Amino acid sequence: MTQTYDLIVIGEGITGLTAANHAARQGLAVATFEAELFGGLVINVNELDGYPEDRVTSGTDLASELMQANAEAGVASIQEEVTSIRAGGGAFEVATAGRSYGARQVVVASGARLKKLGIPGEDEFEGRGVSRCADCDAPLFQNEEVVVVGGGDSALQEALVLAKFCRKVRLIHRGDRFRAQRHLAEQVGADPRISNMWNTTVEAILGGKMVEKVRVKHAGDGKTEEIACAGVFAYVGLAPNTAVVPSGIARDERGYLVTNDAFETSIAGIWSVGAVRARYSGLLRDAVVEAKRVAEAVRNRLALD
Ligand code: NAP
Repeated sequence: MTQTYDLIVIGEGITGLTAANHAARQGLAVATFEAELFGGLVINVNELDGYPEDRVTSGTDLASELMQANAEAGVASIQEEVTSIRAGGGAFEVATAGRSYGARQVVVASGARLKKLGIPGEDEFEGRGVSRCADCDAPLFQNEEVVVVGGGDSALQEALVLAKFCRKVRLIHRGDRFRAQRHLAEQVGADPRISNMWNTTVEAILGGKMVEKVRVKHAGDGKTEEIACAGVFAYVGLAPNTAVVPSGIARDERGYLVTNDAFETSIAGIWSVGAVRARYSGLLRDAVVEAKRVAEAVRNRLALD
């Protein structure tokens, strides 16, 4: 085994970085693991909504600040993909492709990823009109018409970003009301460049070299229609990143990790916070609260051992 830490945190999103920081500042030896770029889900958000409360900042800037703070607090940042977490002998073995590390406690903060629509054309036109990042790609659609699919916070937030650049943004929602926070729905309602299409699903993305249109179906009369657009942005929810989590850990019916109120999973010593956890609110400020509380709980557990 390469090295043993008091705490290994899986995931360098805002939640994992915050948990690691608080644990390290309480004197624990901590390592964070990340297979991709640090920052997690918010990395593509140019203006974070509601957190931090005292200023407007981007996901990249917030994550960079946390990485810096963690380096100063002595957290080891390990850029390796975790392949398994195994319990044994009162501790855990966290394995990556080439090495294994010891951990007295593990916090799973592996977050979630954007779900796909799963319709024809989605993969084919990826990068040719189909985008997963409105904040990055909106300027490419200057004065164009685009489609955003979904009715949650992400869809509305990203429609507002796109409306700063595009001539027209069609927000296509399968339901008849948004599930997004009210302040986002109000901003969308007040934006003359955004129009809503209710009770409508997107069936296919069509085009030649680039996206040219989508085929939609209206639930009311069952009719289909083609809508011209240069871009398609689907924000239809998230799927939890749980591939490396031991199969014995309890999950809810959607695959999110179940924890008790102290954020401990069904395996003692493995904790979970943020977007991978069942009953997470979805708000960044709550993820940060969870992260701080789990660090406290882990420290208390180790102090008792
Ligand atoms: P979400 O809240 O799960 O919303 C997904 C939306 O997509 C829903 O409106 C859903 O419709 C629709 N949908 C799901 N599957 C679909 C399909 N196959 N075809 C068409 N539409 C489909 O997901 P999210 O907006 O990504 O948000 C995820 C979490 O992050 C939430 O907890 C959210 O609050 C949080 N978040 C917060 C902020 C913020 O604080 N500003 C920003 C982004 C995200 P139905 O409504 O009919 O189910």
